Amino acid sequence: MRIGVLAVQGAFAEHIAAVKKLGAEAFEIRNTGDISQPFDGLILPGGESTVMKKLLHDLGLFEPLKKKIDSGLPVLGTCAGMILLAKNIDSGEEPCFGTMDITVKRNAYGRQLGSFVCTDRFADKDITMRFIRAPYVTETDSSVEILSGHDNKIVAVRQNNQLATAFHPELTDDNTVYMLFFKIIENRAGK
Ligand code: GLN
Repeated sequence: MRIGVLAVQGAFAEHIAAVKKLGAEAFEIRNTGDISQPFDGLILPGGESTVMKKLLHDLGLFEPLKKKIDSGLPVLGTCAGMILLAKNIDSGEEPCFGTMDITVKRNAYGRQLGSFVCTDRFADKDITMRFIRAPYVTETDSSVEILSGHDNKIVAVRQNNQLATAFHPELTDDNTVYMLFFKIIENRAGK
């Protein structure tokens, strides 16, 4: 299993380390040459979504990656990565990929609660969640599965090949989110 991690800005190194620790192959996506070989999954990391969006366009990565997501490539977006996938941003900003039928609110927890750690449900399990100037989901289409809520806010969702968390699974020792992502990849490969 070969997973490309968008590595233009943000917390990509931590995702690469986490994926490798779980026994899969991970590589950095920095330019179009990096995606010339086939790969099985894509990770959009945390960071600053506005900067990543600009770099995706400047580096010519936007079109080819959007095409791959549209055609079913499994993708995991965490924090800023969730914002990149969202079809709507509640402030009215232009979306990036806009492939996931959700509306997100950026920096949704305000200044005081900018960063925090909690334990809450992800699918059918309690996991540790680390939030850093995180978004949350304010609206979902009926085809979007809600995997986690925290404090009455939606913080993890899945829509077919797309999985997104407002928190950072790469910054905790809990593998649950990666395991679900790997399962999505394996199921697609088996089709
Ligand atoms: N606040 C960032 C944004 O809006 C996301 C923060 C993160 O990815 N840790 O893009």
